[in-house]
Amino acid sequence: MKIYDLLIVGGGPVGLYAAFYAGMRGLSVGLIEAFDQVGGQPEHLYPEKKIYDVAGLPEISGATLIENLLKQLEFVKADIFSGQRVLNIQKQDDLFSVSTDRNKKYKQADENDALVSTDKLFQSKAILLTTGAGLIAPRKLGIEDENKYYESGKISYFIKNLADFKDKKVAVLGGGDSALDWALMLLNVAKEVHLIHRRPKFRAHEKTVTLLEQSQVKLHIPYTLSALTENEIELNKVKSDEKKVLSVDKILVNYGFLTNQVDLIEQLEVSRSNRILVNREMQTNLAGVFAAGDGADYEGKVPLISVGFGEAVIAINAMSKQIELDHALKKGHSSSLFG
Ligand SMILES: Cc1cc2nc3c(=O)[nH]c(=O)nc-3n(C[C@H](O)[C@H](O)[C@H](O)COP(=O)(O)OP(=O)(O)OC[C@H]3O[C@@H](n4cnc5c(N)ncnc54)[C@H](O)[C@@H]3O)c2cc1C
Repeated sequence: MKIYDLLIVGGGPVGLYAAFYAGMRGLSVGLIEAFDQVGGQPEHLYPEKKIYDVAGLPEISGATLIENLLKQLEFVKADIFSGQRVLNIQKQDDLFSVSTDRNKKYKQADENDALVSTDKLFQSKAILLTTGAGLIAPRKLGIEDENKYYESGKISYFIKNLADFKDKKVAVLGGGDSALDWALMLLNVAKEVHLIHRRPKFRAHEKTVTLLEQSQVKLHIPYTLSALTENEIELNKVKSDEKKVLSVDKILVNYGFLTNQVDLIEQLEVSRSNRILVNREMQTNLAGVFAAGDGADYEGKVPLISVGFGEAVIAINAMSKQIELDHALKKGHSSSLFG
């Protein structure tokens, strides 16, 4: 079995950048991500929303940021495994064993390498936990046949591609900022946009609510969805017997997301908010285990992408002093390494 210098758990923006940076410094690196698609929160929660506070990128969408991180990753050798959730990490002697729920190869740096893992088990000299907000799952509607409609594409929990909604009659469910932003954005492509919210007031920025009220979005408040068929949804007015039926092609459920932090290693110290406690070098209480990004915690922590990128650099430089490398660590600025 291949022994990596570093295994990274979590393929959000911070894990992806860490894989690049570790590869650039000459570490052999593997990254394991639970979702089929890497990218974490920007990819799954807000792919088309704009980000303005990543250094050197005045304006970039969540999905494009991830696309760029994957392009940057192509400069180095790194094995990326997705659709594979890490279940447990154990240390035996000086090596970590990382076990996952299935064996699925996403991208292997060197196609001539032997298959890296055949038994859902990986080994490394160091671990970087970039598990962020944890496993991300959308809050569901909770109706019968919800999965069937999700599989057929009628129900979505986030928008991957606005073009999927082109010329469609869309019902957006929810009353927070995301629901309102999506409803307004969908107006640019959809044939009709309905917004259904169970409360008489929205929980969103005043400016967004004003924009919504002045827009062509058809509001149904306070209503909840009570039934759905292939082409129609039935709405029930809250605290009333009043019902109405709308003809819609697609439903976007925007009830927020549940995140689930999983305990991966015994005796790992966590903060009150269940984030992994680290010192100034992003080292946890366990030797050889580091954490960076939203999942890491310390006094003054700010959970932002640019902060996580910096933390990954600190962690990798610190760990490379600790682990015994079979090869020399690459030193110097990136221009001298790639130029
Ligand atoms: C709506 C919204 C808007 C935002 N806007 C901004 C902004 O404008 N600027 C900004 O800087 N930040 C913004 N953020 C915050 C930013 O998205 C996070 O700081 C960033 O995503 C943290 O990256 P990460 O890689 O640490 O974690 P995440 O993005 O949470 O990625 C963690 C990854 O780890 C994976 N994972 C977890 N557990 C396991 C496991 N056991 N096995 C395998 N994989 C696992 C998850 O599936 C996930 O892909 C925003 C967040 C939200 C929700």
